[in-house]
Amino acid sequence: MTDNKKIADLIFKDINRTPEYYEEMYPVRNLPEGARVTRFAPSPTGYLHFGGLYAGFASKFTAVSTNGVFMLRIEDTDKKREIEDGVSCIVNGLTAFGIAPDEGVTGFDTEKGDYGPYTQSHRREIYRVFAKKLVEEGRAYPCFCTPEILEEIHNRQENEDIKGYYGKYARCRDLTDDEIIEKINAGVPFTVRLRSMGDISRKITFDDMIKGKIEMSENVNDVVILKTDGIPTYHFAHAVDDHLMRTTHVVRGDEWIASVPLHIELFRALGFKPVKYAHIAPLMKEENGGKRKLSKRKDPEANVTYYIEKGYPKESVQEYILTILNSNFEDWRRANKTEDVSKFPFNFKKMSVSGALFDMVKFNDVSKNVISLMTADKVYNCVTDWAKEYDKELYGLLTSNSEKAKAIFNIDRDNPKPRKDIACWDEVRDYLSYFYNEIYTPDITLPETINSADAAEILQKYKEIYSENDTKDEWFAKIKELCTACGYTPNVKEYKQNPDAFKGHVGDVTTVIRIAMTSRVNSPDLYYIMQALGTDEVFARLDTAINSYRG
Ligand code: GLU
Repeated sequence: MTDNKKIADLIFKDINRTPEYYEEMYPVRNLPEGARVTRFAPSPTGYLHFGGLYAGFASKFTAVSTNGVFMLRIEDTDKKREIEDGVSCIVNGLTAFGIAPDEGVTGFDTEKGDYGPYTQSHRREIYRVFAKKLVEEGRAYPCFCTPEILEEIHNRQENEDIKGYYGKYARCRDLTDDEIIEKINAGVPFTVRLRSMGDISRKITFDDMIKGKIEMSENVNDVVILKTDGIPTYHFAHAVDDHLMRTTHVVRGDEWIASVPLHIELFRALGFKPVKYAHIAPLMKEENGGKRKLSKRKDPEANVTYYIEKGYPKESVQEYILTILNSNFEDWRRANKTEDVSKFPFNFKKMSVSGALFDMVKFNDVSKNVISLMTADKVYNCVTDWAKEYDKELYGLLTSNSEKAKAIFNIDRDNPKPRKDIACWDEVRDYLSYFYNEIYTPDITLPETINSADAAEILQKYKEIYSENDTKDEWFAKIKELCTACGYTPNVKEYKQNPDAFKGHVGDVTTVIRIAMTSRVNSPDLYYIMQALGTDEVFARLDTAINSYRG
């Protein structure tokens, strides 16, 4: 007759507390009916992947829309793979894009909430209390198999449908108490394994919030729950943590689906009410006519830091993530043009089952649109915040004359069809370089259709009539006069009907002036550009161009 209690006391000499102690310490949450408690539970083993942020959004949005709670838990049981600033990258990434956790880890060594600690390495005792319970109840046992023995078992299973530690392969499952006590007293290292009661011929079904009903065979493996160093495996920590933190919905990558039968068995063995699962397929990217996963190794945009460094505003990232998160988001946005994204009724059922497509071109379009709808003040504040860290020279230029900078950002903004030039703050330097001689490299090459002599004449005559005090209408009237004076027609239609009668039309004349001012053939409204440059600079640039065209 095995004495499980004796074995448990021997293995867990250090443990005096009971599961009831922790059940009381972390009571069922007092939340409104239907409130969802979710968590983002990354391992700090690398940078925050965009797919992680995407999953974090699903967790956060479902919690927000049900008046629930969104937690951040750090799963750092694999110390070997941990990177130094892993936790900060995660916290900064979530915070920068507007989904700071309501509860849990808030920074390096800081946390908030009543269900902590939220870092797994600080929960060692809790796991041991629950593992002890399983040993006491005969639902877990110590396993002394060495890595070599396990490898040998693995090699013998080549032709088995099921691999792992079960049935005749589970060598330590039925050791006698004496054998166990002897080994432990002799200091033989051991893991603790679940004693599975599963039967491969029986099925379990569960309702995945995203994928729908899933049927799988029961788990039969005596999976390790505590490693030789006493640290839990992911599976065991997941069950204990999500139960005690009173998580209702586990949103995670769909690579975990295969483990659900094990997780359900663990929840049952521990006497916990199972959580609901929402398994997210990885983000996909189109390549060479096919699709592949958005990859940490191949795609710089897979790293959330990329968006921080490039200066994508929080609003753009949110807008894009929601676009790919829920298939009805774009319709909702059309119907609710100015509504804050937090009002969007997120729904797991509207998520892609097979993997949403991540598309940087679309991302940039979404971002350009978001930025085009911001006020000039908001753009100024965002750009300077970003530039302070990532482009000090630009920061200096913009802040040395904030009025000028805001006037520049205001060009073609705040109208029914704002221009969509800027996708991220990293593009601002180039966008406005011609306003600042410090960063402007003029290139006033003319299009082939306009010769230098004509351009010099246009600019010379223009110099005589330009006045900073003109209204936009007066300014344009002068351009038209200029056309006529130089052999161009102010009327494009007229030019098309009778091209031989003119050197060109008003578009050519403004192109010449535009190039002299900006070195570009395409720019925002030229009138406002000249206003922002100021008279002295306008004349200086006209002179430079005239001299250059005259050779
Ligand atoms: N630490 C696990 C991972 O990063 C978490 C999975 C989960 O959310 O449960 O994949």
